[in-house]
Amino acid sequence: MAEADVRHFIDGDFTAGATGRTFENRSPVDGSLISTVHEGGREEVAAAVAAARAALAGPWGRMSVPERAEVLHRVADGIMARFDDFLAAECLDTGKPRSLASHIDIPRGAANFKIFADLIKNVPTEAFQMPTPDGTGALNYAVRVPKGVVAVISPWNLPLLLMTWKVGPALACGNTVVVKPSEETPTTTALLGEVMNAAGVPKGVYNVVHGFGPDSAGQFLTQDAGVDAITFTGETRTGEAIMAAAATGVRDVSFELGGKNPAIVFADCDMDAAIEGTMRSAFANCGQVCLGTERIYVEQSIFDAFVARLKEGAEALRLGPPEDEAANMGPLISKEHQDKVLSYYRKAADEGANVVTGGGVPDMAGDLAGGAWVEPTIWTGLPDASPILREEIFGPCCHISPFSDEGEVIGRANDTPYGLCASVWTGDMARGHRVSQALDVGIVWVNSWFLRDLRTPFGGAKQSGIGREGGVHSLEFYTELKNICVKL
Ligand code: NAD
Repeated sequence: MAEADVRHFIDGDFTAGATGRTFENRSPVDGSLISTVHEGGREEVAAAVAAARAALAGPWGRMSVPERAEVLHRVADGIMARFDDFLAAECLDTGKPRSLASHIDIPRGAANFKIFADLIKNVPTEAFQMPTPDGTGALNYAVRVPKGVVAVISPWNLPLLLMTWKVGPALACGNTVVVKPSEETPTTTALLGEVMNAAGVPKGVYNVVHGFGPDSAGQFLTQDAGVDAITFTGETRTGEAIMAAAATGVRDVSFELGGKNPAIVFADCDMDAAIEGTMRSAFANCGQVCLGTERIYVEQSIFDAFVARLKEGAEALRLGPPEDEAANMGPLISKEHQDKVLSYYRKAADEGANVVTGGGVPDMAGDLAGGAWVEPTIWTGLPDASPILREEIFGPCCHISPFSDEGEVIGRANDTPYGLCASVWTGDMARGHRVSQALDVGIVWVNSWFLRDLRTPFGGAKQSGIGREGGVHSLEFYTELKNICVKL
């Protein structure tokens, strides 16, 4: 695969496909052209799904679990062996700091194969000896079988990490996949095709079709009757469209969707830790993290001090391109996303927010002026009903509101259609447990953020998702549990 020409990966080969359509992939850092990407239509999707179906009946389907696990270990090792290639591709597509991608995106991309390869070798199922009226008895047991062809549709914010978080367990369970990566970040998904071939993954097990969502590869993939299940990470509204498509044929879905996550900071917290954690949860990856914090509630007595310290932290952030070792914040993913985030910056000002810091586009020198940069931004003073506190912005911004008691803040934190995650900062552990249990979300961090053993369940409540992935919970989605009863 030449980096300048990103092709589909179908049945073990890179192909331009039949549509002849391509689109441009532009750098978020300076707007320059990174690559030309081939856009898949119904035909490419059908070819990829057919290859995936055929592979189920081939060597992949006949492999023992330990053999499959060994192949996936080789995939993980292959990613690490080409660490620099993956790092360069991910940074080029996203513009994120190299330090971030090298610590999180690429190693987790590899780990996602190892974790599930090891898990699948050790997962138990049930078996019961049961009596029968004639006295001979029966053996009733369950086995896990793959679901079949799984469609994987992934977003752009953590491209390799989030895509492999689904491909890893899907393959470990013996399925085959057709991946539709985000149109913004196609490169590492394509690069993984090379690693799959080198690792000896049979042809057709891992397929990639590039393109957009509606009227393009994404929609066609969800509509293809050869797809048995759909796993998706992205916006809630996209999830609704995919769910409607999945209804035809009653296909199973697993959704990791949007959020409007609160952080609750009590006066008895360790202020240094709360500031450090909130700096990361609000501004890491330029605020483009589904688990990021856009609503912060701070107990009245420490409100002013907290706002002042977060302002100081935001103003110390250094914006720069991936190769700038001192930079800790990159650009947004695209000019289009920059427009969306800036529309919220304007809306906040129109609604009379107090702009504590930021609120605009930074002055970037030279070529960087063509990039999708925005300032890290903090607001105070808006009511809870404001769109700034209700809608997911997905940028480096947050609103801070004061609160006066625990019951009140729990009610305000829960007053949202979303339910992905929350952070609670307190020195009182009983309160930490109590508040965690009262929050309507899938994940709560107490005195931390983004800390999770990958064996635990991950997913959102309310409109933030359907189902849980992680550890054995992934197996619930990626396998069918078959019940077999043998009369003895
Ligand atoms: P998006 O929904 O716009 O796109 C995600 C993917 O879906 C892309 O590959 C896109 O091409 C495809 N798509 C779009 N419309 C489609 C359609 N009608 N049919 C099939 N596919 C379609 O999301 P995004 O902008 O790429 O990512 C940001 C969003 O993802 C945010 O809402 C964020 O909160 C969410 N997200 C959630 C999690 C989580 O774990 N809950 C993790 C990361 C991101």
